[in-house]
Amino acid sequence: MPADTLADKEAERWNHRPSVGVPLNPLFSWPPSPLAVVNWYRGAWLQITAITVPFLIALAVYFWFLPPLEQMRTLQAGWIFRLWLLNVIPQSLVAGGLHWYLYIRKGQGMHKKFDKRDLTRNNGMFTFNNQVWDNIWWTLGSGMSVATAYQALIYWVMANGWVPVMAFGDTPILFLAWMALIPMWSGLHFYWAHRLEHHPKLYKHVHAVHHRNINTGPWSGVSNHWWENALYYTTYFVHLIIPSHPLHLMFHSYFQQISPVFSHCGFERLAKNETDLAKAGDFFHQLHHRYFECNYGTSEIPFDKWFGTYHDGTAEATERTRAFKKQMYSK
Ligand SMILES: [Zn+2]
Ligand SMILES: [Zn+2]
Repeated sequence: MPADTLADKEAERWNHRPSVGVPLNPLFSWPPSPLAVVNWYRGAWLQITAITVPFLIALAVYFWFLPPLEQMRTLQAGWIFRLWLLNVIPQSLVAGGLHWYLYIRKGQGMHKKFDKRDLTRNNGMFTFNNQVWDNIWWTLGSGMSVATAYQALIYWVMANGWVPVMAFGDTPILFLAWMALIPMWSGLHFYWAHRLEHHPKLYKHVHAVHHRNINTGPWSGVSNHWWENALYYTTYFVHLIIPSHPLHLMFHSYFQQISPVFSHCGFERLAKNETDLAKAGDFFHQLHHRYFECNYGTSEIPFDKWFGTYHDGTAEATERTRAFKKQMYSK
């Protein structure tokens, strides 16, 4: 079948497709393009994005609400419960706020919405027969509990001085460099953990919970099965290996938990009166939810390109992805 016929066939299934396709971090492109790299990082760190929102939340929570390390020297229910609330409340505000604006108030209608369909109700595939309630349960009940357990363990180890803790005053450049590298580490860990979850057996029993959401919404971001959460949040244990400050773990936590709210929200941009205000969804991951065996990582570190699983939004890539899936499941 010629590629252009395929392209038309797939185009019908989208309400909106970004005109720029699916860009990857130019840091890894050859020949080098320093200007493109500067623009990529300026776009990520100097606007309202899935990086800056978690960073600002981390700063606010760190200075106003995180218990001091001395208090976390002994494992106690009081401060662990507070950590759980510090996960649940920002998650609910961001996912709930975006869900309210985009899907209840329909504040921008279908403007920049990828999928033509609305979220699913009365469908037995979802817990409580409802996509949104299903996603809220797996996010707050399962996800935030596992994340809290891992964070508590790491703060407890840091508080007891069993691993070196980095101080801003001693090495400010290293401190900031490590902060800036966290999204890349997260992307690296995610690619491999996620590929493992697509092993047909793990997929069927575990990762399928996340993939109930073919048409995703803000609450779908970290709507994962218990075992998937147990693996997904092991990314935090890097702070036991690389000397870190509690603020590094805090930013990492909100990045890991809140940036998927944006990437799954289903709209490319947030807008008011058809004027785009901020970046939101991520077509890269939207394609993963539609075609499954592609774009396992993030656009921050292009493992998919290097390992042949990159879907750039074209009909050829769809064809290649379908062939790969067929081959994977025929084994
Ligand atoms: Zn997946
Ligand atoms: Zn997803």
